[in-house]
Amino acid sequence: MQIAADKVVSIDYTLRNDAGEVLDQSAPDSPLHYLHGHGNLIPGLESALVGKSQGDQVDAVIPPAEAYGEFDAGLVQVVPREMFQGVDTIEPGMQFQAQSGQGMQIITVKEVNDENVTVDANHQLAGETLHFDVTVKDVRDASAEELSHGHVHGPGGHEH
Ligand code: ZN
Repeated sequence: MQIAADKVVSIDYTLRNDAGEVLDQSAPDSPLHYLHGHGNLIPGLESALVGKSQGDQVDAVIPPAEAYGEFDAGLVQVVPREMFQGVDTIEPGMQFQAQSGQGMQIITVKEVNDENVTVDANHQLAGETLHFDVTVKDVRDASAEELSHGHVHGPGGHEH
C-alpha cells in the first residue's frame, strides 16, 4: 500500500540540521504514527513520503518554506521586564506560551537585562533546512473515526 491522503503511516525518522546535528529522532521500536494529508507533519515531509510504501527509505532535504517557515526578524521583540510579573527568574532559553493574533505561540527568551527582555516568537526551527532520514514501517487505511478526528487512534496515537 502506498502513502497517500487518509492513510495511517508509521515511520522511523532522524532529523538533522544543515550542520549534521541530530535535532530529533523516533525512539527505537517506537515509530511515529500519523494520518497523512491532515496537516500532522510539515508539508515538505508529507510531499517526500507520497507514493512510498512499507520498507522504503527516504532522505528528504526540506527548505524552511516547506518546514517551519523563514526566520522573521519582526517576531523578535524587546519587552519591559515587568511584563513577566510573577516569574522569579528569567533566563535565556526559557520558553513561555503567549496569546497572539494566530492563537497560542511559544516564545523563547533570548536576552535579559535589568530592564528588558528580548523574546523571539519564531518557531525554534524557523529558517532551518531540515534533513530527514525516514524508514516507512507501515501504511494502512485510516478508520472512519480517525478521519473524522483528523488524527491516529490506538497504540502510538490518541487514546480516547
Ligand atoms: Zn480522536
